[in-house]
Amino acid sequence: MTQATDPIEFVGLASPIQERFAQQPNETLSISLIEELAAICDTSTDDQDLADHGRDWWPLAMHWAMQGKTPRKPHAVCRPTSTEQVVSIVQLCNNNRIPLTVSAGRSGVCGAAIPVYGGVVLDTCLLASIVSVDRISGVIEVLPGMFGPDFENELRDMYGVTVGHFPQSFDISTVGGWVACRGAGQYSTRYGKIEDMVVGLEVVLANGTVVRTGTAPAGANGPDLTSLFVGSEGTLGVITRVWLRSHPLPTTQQRAAYLFPSFVDGINTCRTAVQHGATPAVLRLYDADESKRSHGTDGKQCTLLVLDEGDERIVSATLSIVHDAAMAHGAQVGDVDLVENWMHHRNNTSGLQEATRRGFIVDTMEVAAQWSSLEAIFANVRASLMAVEGALSATCHLSHSYLDGACLYFTFAAKPTPEFEERYVQLWNACQRAALNAGANVSHHHGAGLNRGRFLPESLGAGMGVLQSIKNTLDPHNIFNPGKLGLNPDSDTTKRNSVWP
Ligand SMILES: Cc1cc2nc3c(=O)[nH]c(=O)nc-3n(C[C@H](O)[C@H](O)[C@H](O)COP(=O)(O)OP(=O)(O)OC[C@H]3O[C@@H](n4cnc5c(N)ncnc54)[C@H](O)[C@@H]3O)c2cc1C
Repeated sequence: MTQATDPIEFVGLASPIQERFAQQPNETLSISLIEELAAICDTSTDDQDLADHGRDWWPLAMHWAMQGKTPRKPHAVCRPTSTEQVVSIVQLCNNNRIPLTVSAGRSGVCGAAIPVYGGVVLDTCLLASIVSVDRISGVIEVLPGMFGPDFENELRDMYGVTVGHFPQSFDISTVGGWVACRGAGQYSTRYGKIEDMVVGLEVVLANGTVVRTGTAPAGANGPDLTSLFVGSEGTLGVITRVWLRSHPLPTTQQRAAYLFPSFVDGINTCRTAVQHGATPAVLRLYDADESKRSHGTDGKQCTLLVLDEGDERIVSATLSIVHDAAMAHGAQVGDVDLVENWMHHRNNTSGLQEATRRGFIVDTMEVAAQWSSLEAIFANVRASLMAVEGALSATCHLSHSYLDGACLYFTFAAKPTPEFEERYVQLWNACQRAALNAGANVSHHHGAGLNRGRFLPESLGAGMGVLQSIKNTLDPHNIFNPGKLGLNPDSDTTKRNSVWP
């Protein structure tokens, strides 16, 4: 695959396609600048191409598509095929103070890839190949625009290895997007989050400097520069090359399922198992509502799905530790076919599109917190969401476990309303603040982007000033993805009074 997948159709296509966000005064890209871009690489100003690059899978943007609108069209879409071309585009934009937003699979769910101030979108999808494989160390060098299936199939078929990163959006997202958003795959409890997999990066900075970070398995060479760019969501530079760790293909896979009388019993099982050293690839606990909806249970019990893969001796020991933990917390053994069913429907997004077409508000919020805070977050977030007018449901599953805590993933829905946008903001304010107040972070793997940027300053506190200083130093003209991650969109801070531009 070499291009992004549209989240949903535009209804009643106007020509030219309308924008939800207003353009700023004097915002243009001169014909001569577009010609200069076109001399560097393939450059498009086609209206449909601009509209497609004006959105991602952010549910509010999907709602605007039902009104025939894209959030914000860029002035041009550039498709470089080499780091040298990226450098030329970045330097041109920097010298002329043109906003530059990197776009890849555009599968982000927080509006991170939306070019809110227009300018240039740099599409990485033609930067897509495995460059080298160090078979002894298991280190893969890959260009950022490679989509999940192309990447993993080539690794498996040609080199007999896997990186082990399988997000729900595997088919529609890229390696560079995984790194830029600090994502997590569904097998992360065994293979780690993307930041655990990245060995090093090549990044093009705003002034055109190409930096390479990392490369050794561990170091003490001052602060880790790789981690500065992992999760930077296109605000600090363009990631043009990634080195990742890989694993031999697993020889065994084992599965199990358990049913619990309460979500808290399930949380305690996950904690006990992980703290005893069992890190099964999949350890997913569903609350009673999600268990009923997704696994057909009676609506009273909570379901835990377990899957591990790798060396048979480690897998057997892991499943045995999980079993003992489950039994100690009052579980019944469930039907192992529940895992098989989940494998089949886990990446199906048709419900989201169907609900969007019918006018419902549907979205998800994933946060991480320490084990000691999870029970309060589980209760407070659902209660806060259900207190918002029109709320229909607020459900939860635990999707990723760590030694000290876990990720809780909430799914919420509200009735169709003419005040869709206001209601959407109310729901997000309710759930994100309830989570923050109970000890969670802003995001575990979806990132902040546009929708959640407003929560970062209150979450990071004085740390936000550090982040802003890094941004000001690396990107003094604020060309990279302005208006994201809660960073100052420009010197005119009055713009921050609105939720988004
Ligand atoms: C149905 C669905 C399920 C999802 N499930 C998961 C999941 O299980 N786990 C998970 O982690 N995420 C998930 N996501 C979110 C999304 O898929 C991830 O954030 C993904 O990593 C984004 O990759 P992308 O290639 O689509 O990037 P895009 O959406 O195109 O870009 C995302 C951000 O990264 C920046 N960016 C992209 N590439 C680069 C680069 N090379 N250099 C600099 N900046 C760059 C962009 O500017 C933007 O800010 C899901 C999304 C959907 C729609």
